[in-house]
Amino acid sequence: MAKTERETRLDAAAARLKEAGLRPTRQRLELARLLFTGMDRHVTAESLAEEGARAGVKVSLATVYNTLHQFQAAGLLRQVVVDASRSYFDTNVGDHQHFFVESEGVLIDIPGEEISVSGVPAAPPGLSIDRVDVVVRVKRV
Ligand SMILES: [Zn+2]
Repeated sequence: MAKTERETRLDAAAARLKEAGLRPTRQRLELARLLFTGMDRHVTAESLAEEGARAGVKVSLATVYNTLHQFQAAGLLRQVVVDASRSYFDTNVGDHQHFFVESEGVLIDIPGEEISVSGVPAAPPGLSIDRVDVVVRVKRV
């Protein structure tokens, strides 16, 4: 019998978690299934928790938050901090930066080759620059 789309996505999620060295718990699997759709996505813990609730996935906001951080630590997601109270998680971990539409809380990708950052000072002694995150704040005109 052919697999449903949900089953196919759960299988893909399990493979992705295994590859990242994460144990495929039910909650991780369900959240990975929602997150990794094949399209680049920017989510917050709140938006993913709401999406989960709509999809009938029973997970608390705290679990969603912890799971997003575990996925980030495993290299599956990139965290984009826009201010002290707001963090987004990006399924695109490749080289790119972001426009942030502050009034709408929306991130828009800037391809890595379309932006260059110059004048970054040398890292303090004993440290090396890991990466530079650029968030360009934009507003509707
Ligand atoms: Zn992005």
